[in-house]
Amino acid sequence: MINLDFSLAIGLYLLLILLVIVSFWIVFENRIKRKGVLPLLPKRNIWHCSICAHIYIDKETEISVCPRCKSYNKREEKRERGEKK
Ligand SMILES: [Zn+2]
Repeated sequence: MINLDFSLAIGLYLLLILLVIVSFWIVFENRIKRKGVLPLLPKRNIWHCSICAHIYIDKETEISVCPRCKSYNKREEKRERGEKK
């Protein structure tokens, strides 16, 4: 059996945890750089106000209220043409 000093075992354990965290960090950073932050959300949750041109995130409904100008926006059929259901 391998004899390990207690402090060496703790050090190896912490190093292993650090390697796991850094590897997850690198994987998710590469994914965000490749696809951007917005593709993490479904496209139907991204709204574009027809009055003030503000882009915001809201629920997946047919009508949404713009948080900036408080106007009602209806989902456009043009946006859904490219989406697969
Ligand atoms: Zn607006």
